[in-house]
This record gives sequence, C-alpha cells and structure tokens, in this order.
Amino acid sequence: MATTKKDIRALTKEQLREFFEKQGDKAFRGNQVYEWLWQKSAHSFDDMTNVSLETRQMLEENFVINHIKVDTMQRSNDGTVKNAVRLHDGLIVESVLIPTATRTTACVSSQVGCSLDCKFCATARLKRMRNLNPDEIYDQVVAIDNESKLYFNRPLSNIVFMGMGEPLMNYNNVIKAIDKITSEEGLGMSPKRITVSTSGVPKMIKKMADDEVKFNLAVSLHSAIDEVRTSIMPFNETFPLEDLREALEYWYAKTKRKISYEYVVWNGINDSQKDIDAFVKFCKYVPCKVNIIEYNPIDDGEFQQASSEALENYIASLEKNRIVVNVRRSRGKDIDAACGQLANKS
Ligand code: SAH
Repeated sequence: MATTKKDIRALTKEQLREFFEKQGDKAFRGNQVYEWLWQKSAHSFDDMTNVSLETRQMLEENFVINHIKVDTMQRSNDGTVKNAVRLHDGLIVESVLIPTATRTTACVSSQVGCSLDCKFCATARLKRMRNLNPDEIYDQVVAIDNESKLYFNRPLSNIVFMGMGEPLMNYNNVIKAIDKITSEEGLGMSPKRITVSTSGVPKMIKKMADDEVKFNLAVSLHSAIDEVRTSIMPFNETFPLEDLREALEYWYAKTKRKISYEYVVWNGINDSQKDIDAFVKFCKYVPCKVNIIEYNPIDDGEFQQASSEALENYIASLEKNRIVVNVRRSRGKDIDAACGQLANKS
C-alpha cells in the first residue's frame, strides 16, 4: 500500500530541529537523528540507539526512511562491480565501482533513464522516468564505499557522475547530494575528488560557475563540428557548440579550473583530419584535458570503434598542441558496466 508518510531525509537539519521543538522536545534531538540518517546511514528508526524508544516510535508514526536496496551485484573479471539499485518505488538504476591499483571510483546515476537521446548510449533507450532524490544519489555512494571497504580494504576515493542520466538536468538534487557527500556530517569527501559529467547544458554550466561549486566538470564532447555532433547527440541542435563554448569560457573565467572533455572516436563518424582539427581548435578555447574513451558497443553496429591509426592521429595532433590526453580503457564490459552500457539489463 502506498504510504503517505514523508521521507524524513527530505528534511534539512534545521527542519528536523524545528520538528522536534514543535513536539515539545529539544532541538538538539534533531541533530542526533540527522547524524543517524546521514553519517551513520541508519536504515530504520530502531537503529538509533541513543534515541528513546518513545521518540523512535513517534518518528515511525510520522516518517519513513526511503533507503535504496542493492538488488543484484555483479562482479567483472577485472574487479569492476555493478550494482542494480532498487528505489523505494520499485524503479531501478545502476551504479558501478571501478577499482584501480591506487583508487576506487564510484560511477553513480542521477536520473532513472535519460531524457537525452545520444545515439551511441544504451541509457538513452530507456525513457526518463524521474529524477533521483538527493538521498538516492547519496545512498549509491555509501553502498559503493561499503563494497570498496569489503572487497578492496580501502574506502572509496573518487566519484564520477557518469552513470544513468544527465546530472545537469537534475541539478538541485545533484548539488544537495554532493553537499552531503562532502560535508563532515555526511561522508566528508573532498569535492576535488568528484567529477560531474554533462553532455553540455550551457545555462546550467554557467549556474554551476555562479554557485562556485568546487567539484570538477567533464563535458562529453565527441565532436567539435555542429553537424556531426547533432547527428550523434541530437540535443546539440538546441545547445549548439557556440553556446557550449561560451558557457565553458564563463566557467573557466569564474572557477579557473580546467575542463575535461570526454571523447569517443568512431569509424567514419568523427575520425577524419577535419574532425581532429575542429577538436584541437575547440580545445584551445579553454584550458582542458582530454579523455579518449574506448567505445562500448551497445548493439546494432551503427557505431564502431575507430581504428588505432585514427586514435593515434588524434593523440598526435592534441599532443603537438600541448593538450594533455589520456586514453581510457573500458572496465567491466563483460557485465555491461562500462560507459554507456547501463540499461538495467541484469
Ligand atoms: N549524461 C552525462 C553522463 C552519462 S554518460 C554525459 O553525457 O556526460 C558518461 C560518458 O559515457 C559520457 O561521456 C558518454 O558520452 C559516454 N558514453 C555513452 N555511451 C557510450 C558508449 N556506448 N561507449 C563509450 N562511451 C559512452
């Protein structure tokens, strides 16, 4: 039966304090409960052992704690772990733990499905059902932090918003989640270890700059030629490269922080010298670094990873222009956990 009780984690600390005051209790009780909800990730009011039984019952009558549940967990041969996460309303999103020799990265989702329609991305084939709440984003991170400690004996070190969804189309909730992740009252992680990846929503990139966010920005560029970009990322029609460029210049002027460009090179789509020249030119507008991502096939063969020769041409041209470029090998392909493969298939 659908519950009408409110999710207690939708309340700010101040609202929780006020709630207790209205109940004739001390505002301080709000701090205690808040700590249980976030820092200690309590799943039930009964876990709150320093809160009286009476208060716990009162909370139970008024609220629910909508916790996510890791439904299935798959482990790849390369150590990558994929969680299918069930939300309180039964919908599923995926998040991924990516281990390397020195770090553990969590790749988290920000929406159920995605409203963008990038032709090469499996998530785009799922309709956008809804935005994730801040607590649902936070819980994905906590789940991966726990798995990292369990399987790799170390806490999570980095977070990338590169799972399902477009984070800048759920901006407020993503920001609230990051506030909790970075706060001492949450996980206390440094924002420098967090990267938000976007297909490039110019207005929101400017808003992030105005809000003086402290995390890193990655842009999924894939082409610096409007025609090409629109053909593979149709929303580029609404937000063309010139607008994106202006927003990125604004971002850099305000934050003085480099941008990362994510880039996949496909056979016959963006592998010509013309494509390379346009990209190199774009890279000069704002200080940046480039991550060339390996293509993870999603099905129909329309997109194919470009030849290593084309990749070498990209790398040589970028390096000649003193642009830092990394080539990222895919992780977790055998369990459909790699970039662009998240589509609730497990
Ligand atoms: N919506 C956000 C974050 C999700 S996608 C964004 O667009 O940035 C994370 C990265 O994976 C993006 O750079 C995206 O373009 C890339 N990607 C999507 N499908 C892919 C695929 N099949 N193979 C490789 N990378 C892919």
